[in-house]
Amino acid sequence: MSILLDTSHYHKVELSHWSNSQDQSFRKCLLQWYWRTVLGLEPVRKSSPLHRGSSVHHALEQFHTLDPKDRSYDILEHHFRTYYETQREAVIATAFDPTAEARDFDDWLLSVGIRTIKGIWERWGKDENVPKLSMTEYTDEVPIPGTDVKYQFRLDALVLNVARPFIFETKTMSKDYTSDYDEHDLQAPRNVWAINQSLVMPTPIEHVVYNFIVFPGKRSKGLLERRVFQPSYKEIQFAIHDLSVVIQEATRDDLAIIHSFSKACAWSCDFYHICKERKFGNPVDNILETEYSTRDNPTGAEYTDDESMSD
Ligand code: SF4
Repeated sequence: MSILLDTSHYHKVELSHWSNSQDQSFRKCLLQWYWRTVLGLEPVRKSSPLHRGSSVHHALEQFHTLDPKDRSYDILEHHFRTYYETQREAVIATAFDPTAEARDFDDWLLSVGIRTIKGIWERWGKDENVPKLSMTEYTDEVPIPGTDVKYQFRLDALVLNVARPFIFETKTMSKDYTSDYDEHDLQAPRNVWAINQSLVMPTPIEHVVYNFIVFPGKRSKGLLERRVFQPSYKEIQFAIHDLSVVIQEATRDDLAIIHSFSKACAWSCDFYHICKERKFGNPVDNILETEYSTRDNPTGAEYTDDESMSD
């Protein structure tokens, strides 16, 4: 763990694969990427946005897996409530303040969660525009041209039994970040490319339907919106070429692991607590032991001459 205190030397990293979340982390902060990808560090505590978003994801997935005629509000709410409640124990057990966390957990369910689920039903009803899902949680890896690394992708769902098959993705957010998708989204072109490498179909998949869900807040009504993205051939070419460039950079012989401190660290990074203590020269061993665990098989590893990573 010397890297936690000393980032002054260069690194050479070997990767088993590259994913969208790694890509975002690498571009955001090299230190965050290194800790997550190479050291495999992850927080023990599950953050609230994750369990909230995953509950909506789960409910919609169960809902859309049904034929539209069989869908109902009760089914949607049932799946949402049930899945949300299954996370209560883990969320509260790992909270800094379990009493406050339990109160927030229950408040959010009624004041935001159920309100969102009702809004989804009022907005789309049985949602005939999204026929019964053909596959959910589709995961695969495809080779990235010009590299030895594979692109690992995971799609929420695929709708294949239609004239124009498509990828169906739900994005839940606590704030409206939908404008990030207007011009800067590289995930959609990469996913369209990757799914057509992975699944050869009579009619290729050419578009992604994004289901944007922004949770309502004290001062905002939230947002429920659906947008279709059909990346052009040139956009796909750009997005794949960009992948090969970023991987060359991540695996260079002399990678310097630098931090990107910013005011966003406090709310947007799992490692904020370690980073802050480290900046002031305080020990971090205790934080590491109590607040973090280490994944068994991290995606990356420090290159050594005698020990190569296997896929
Ligand atoms: S807290 Fe900020 S500087 Fe530290 S790893 Fe996270 S993003 Fe990077």
